[in-house]
Amino acid sequence: MIETIIFGTKQIDFLLEFSGRKSLGITVTPDLAVLVKAPVDTPIEKIKEKIRKKAPWIIRQQSFFLVFHPKMTERKYVGGETHLYFGRQYRLKIIMGDVESVKLKGKFIEVTTFDKERIKQLVDDWYLQNAKKKLYAIGLELIEKFKKYNVEPTSVILREMPTRWGSCTAKGKIILNPELIKAPKGCIEYVIIHELCHLIHHDHTQKFLDLQSMEMPYWEKWKMKLEKLLA
Ligand SMILES: [Zn+2]
Repeated sequence: MIETIIFGTKQIDFLLEFSGRKSLGITVTPDLAVLVKAPVDTPIEKIKEKIRKKAPWIIRQQSFFLVFHPKMTERKYVGGETHLYFGRQYRLKIIMGDVESVKLKGKFIEVTTFDKERIKQLVDDWYLQNAKKKLYAIGLELIEKFKKYNVEPTSVILREMPTRWGSCTAKGKIILNPELIKAPKGCIEYVIIHELCHLIHHDHTQKFLDLQSMEMPYWEKWKMKLEKLLA
């Protein structure tokens, strides 16, 4: 069942399950859900009181996940529409021609095509190609920096994820959302540094945070920018 507490100005919803365990367990999942497992017969008021006490910890855990809020406004891929690339706004310029191409020119993303139905595909392919090039290049430099800790990701891949900018598996594989190519370089670095720190500390503990702050002192600024980016 879903229960709710209010902590300051925040509402915390949590999924409550009763089980045979002896003490209360709280987990925050990467999509920011709060799961609570409580011993059978614990009164709900007692559970809520414990959650209230743990609220600062819950909020802190939630704030560390690299949550991706996809833009809800539908892109139409028509001339004049703005699209983000590397933190900057560009306008689409559609040119009818036989040789298809997508190019950055001044403040425009210039798309040449013989068929208007193909604009979305061409633009999406262009984003993905650039994401591969740039995200890997930025990643490579940062991976080099982390070698002083004797860690290295087993691989770095791009994969569309509905709710996250990046993740790091238990086996050390770093997954980046190709949508990151729309963000400024600092935001991209922040996501990659965050995931590289997970090679050393798997949870969002204080040690994790200290390491992240050491590798990127102003990470909060970039995190905030990233959260506003596609919201
Ligand atoms: Zn994390």
